Amino acid sequence: MGKISSMFQKGKMTVSFEVFPPKKDDDIEKLYDTIKDLIDIRPDFVSVTYGAGGSTRDKTVEIASTIKNKIGIETMAHLTCVNSSEDDISRVLDELNSKNIQNVLALRGDPQQGQANFTKTSGGFGYAYELVNYIKKHNDWSICVAGYPEGHIETQDLKREMDYLKMKVDNGADFIISQLFFNNEDFLNFRDQAIKKGINKPIIPGIFPILNYNAIKKITSLCGAKIPKYLSDNLECKKDNPSEIEKIGIEHAISQSEELIKHDIAGIHFYTMNKSSQIKEIYNSIAKKIIRI
Ligand code: FAD
Repeated sequence: MGKISSMFQKGKMTVSFEVFPPKKDDDIEKLYDTIKDLIDIRPDFVSVTYGAGGSTRDKTVEIASTIKNKIGIETMAHLTCVNSSEDDISRVLDELNSKNIQNVLALRGDPQQGQANFTKTSGGFGYAYELVNYIKKHNDWSICVAGYPEGHIETQDLKREMDYLKMKVDNGADFIISQLFFNNEDFLNFRDQAIKKGINKPIIPGIFPILNYNAIKKITSLCGAKIPKYLSDNLECKKDNPSEIEKIGIEHAISQSEELIKHDIAGIHFYTMNKSSQIKEIYNSIAKKIIRI
């Protein structure tokens, strides 16, 4: 346990999960049960999201600390620039440090609700690379950043996006986790371009199992990820049948993961949506193909 940046080994893969702080405090225990249910998989780390507008700041720290210090799995706390000055960020980092957490996913964050564009908070940061730069100076953190195989929804210019990713790495990012995608070619092209650009840090694909029709429609409309036609046709046919949607989503996540594993990926990160049984089903069917660290 410790810094995620020191976990990566050539020819081996990390396996990790993303969870989010539940809206209702009463559901936090359920989240811990979900994570305990995933222990069999021996996750290398669990990452905890940071709610829009910095709304879950305290919960993110509390949950990350419980996962690390009580459940015993390494954690990474997400941190955004939204609604935060340098001092606010510094306080969160101090708190994480005091809980023995040394891993941060540094993000700019999305524009606040009702705003079309991201607005930098006075005394804060306008881009993730500035946050990375600040965190790196603050302490010796292991820093992850976001990567966008299909471009970021505000930019969608893959070349410019790659320049910005390089800036994040040049400012101190140690590894990259990708936004969800459903077509492996997008990820593999993105990784090739990153290597050409001189980004020689691990790039972990983020796998999002489709478990709910309405949820996937909403998420893809927000982040711009494309669903291949055959998959989208399949989902449309079964949209009124939740268990069929889940079956299609799990099958796709398995085949996506299996193909990626053949391409020497540094790790695999599952967007769990705070669910364990479906994630276990996916993991168990690919487990034999993974050489773990
Ligand atoms: P940046 O890398 O700063 O990019 C933001 C935009 O600015 C992009 O359009 C980029 O092209 C552009 N840009 C970057 N640098 C420059 C520059 N130097 N000059 C001009 N333009 C530039 N959001 C949350 O609120 N909480 C979370 O916990 C969370 N977790 C995430 C985890 C992962 C793995 C991913 C992929 C995303 C996550 N997000 C989360 C979403 C993320 O906050 C949004 O995608 C956000 O809009 C961009 O954040 P970023 O860190 O990629 O920003």
